[in-house]
Amino acid sequence: MEKTTEKLPTIIIVGAGIGGLTFYHSVRKHLGQKFKVKIFERESSPQGYNIYVNRKGVTSLFYCTPPEVQIRFPEAMPDPVPKEQHSISMIDHVGRQLICLPQRNPKTVYEIESIKHDYAGLVSYRNRLRDILLEGVDIQWGKKCVGYEESDDGVPELKILDLEVTSIDVDIAVPKDYAERLMSFYANCLVQKSLGQYGDSFFSMLRLIPIDKSDEPKYRVTFGYSYPTNLDIKENIKIDDNDPKSVINHAMLRIKQLRSPCELTDLMIKILSLVPLSQPDDNYPFKTYNPPRRRQLRDINPLSVPPWKDDRIVLLGDAAHAMNPLLGLDADLLTKELLNYENDNLVSCIKRYNEQMRARSSKDVMASRSIVIKQRDPVGT
Ligand SMILES: Cc1cc2nc3c(=O)[nH]c(=O)nc-3n(C[C@H](O)[C@H](O)[C@H](O)COP(=O)(O)OP(=O)(O)OC[C@H]3O[C@@H](n4cnc5c(N)ncnc54)[C@H](O)[C@@H]3O)c2cc1C
Repeated sequence: MEKTTEKLPTIIIVGAGIGGLTFYHSVRKHLGQKFKVKIFERESSPQGYNIYVNRKGVTSLFYCTPPEVQIRFPEAMPDPVPKEQHSISMIDHVGRQLICLPQRNPKTVYEIESIKHDYAGLVSYRNRLRDILLEGVDIQWGKKCVGYEESDDGVPELKILDLEVTSIDVDIAVPKDYAERLMSFYANCLVQKSLGQYGDSFFSMLRLIPIDKSDEPKYRVTFGYSYPTNLDIKENIKIDDNDPKSVINHAMLRIKQLRSPCELTDLMIKILSLVPLSQPDDNYPFKTYNPPRRRQLRDINPLSVPPWKDDRIVLLGDAAHAMNPLLGLDADLLTKELLNYENDNLVSCIKRYNEQMRARSSKDVMASRSIVIKQRDPVGT
């Protein structure tokens, strides 16, 4: 006999980030006969920046979302345009090529799953992806989860590790000339890193698709400059992290201190000096603008924490295994385990999910951590 909806248990999702929203769609798509679902979000502020969505991420998104969402994926993950290489390139402090991973570009997001390479993917607009996932979802906005009282040890206390690297990140609208110069340093690869000699590095990610239709079109670059945190500690530096100018001036100071003058350094300084001019714009797809932020890179390796009690609380995404922004899906795994609910009880499903999620994500966190730690040390140490 079919259950009436009233009798179904309710899954409550806390946080409408990409992870929570993907799981919301997955419950509706695969588990609608077994569960009801509600989603709460503490704030309505936009979430910006470009991200690289690789084959694992794309496969998970397709498994979890309905066709009416999938049909809109190209808005967030547009087809490659001429000159774009959806791949990673690393150069040294003066622009000499260190690594370039040339790959066959997928023609569209729909082709990625069939490319048998885990790093096949597309540089995507994170804010647009979230907007698409948000559409039609009944979010309970302005609701912050402040505690959970079912049992004292129900919520795991996760160990956050400070990687001793500080990163200043910002989304910047740059003119075509700057976007093309960036591309030429990195052999047209869109995921870009320049390693410095003193543990510092530039990171940039862009699409060669203008964000406006003016005579002087702009391109959105997600830009980061990172350096060893102990420099700020030793110098007892005072920065107003709420003042974009103060943060950008600090980034410039570190660049001038740690990089020798050259064409690459000059370009990076010029790009950063555009920040005050990089105004938010409501037009698609540059709907959001991230002001510069200085933050310490931290991560959570779930295997560094003793297994937590398997009860009705489940963690997924960055809440369980935040990693520094280099690699990175749990919504499909949790859905597949919850498909067994009724044959197995809820706690058994969650236990199996926790075991697999901890092992899988630990591997990614450790890989990502190792990259940051290697880059943090000055060359030759
Ligand atoms: C600069 C940068 C670049 C990145 N680049 C990449 C990339 O190239 N590729 C990639 O795969 N990943 C990348 N990432 C990581 C990726 O963005 C995250 O892994 C992903 O956003 C995690 O999604 P999530 O839903 O788990 O968490 P989040 O996106 O952090 O969402 C969590 C949501 O929960 C809400 N929330 C939190 N606490 C509460 C509460 N108590 N009550 C109610 N709501 C709450 C928050 O407001 C937020 O909306 C990058 C991250 C950064 C910062």
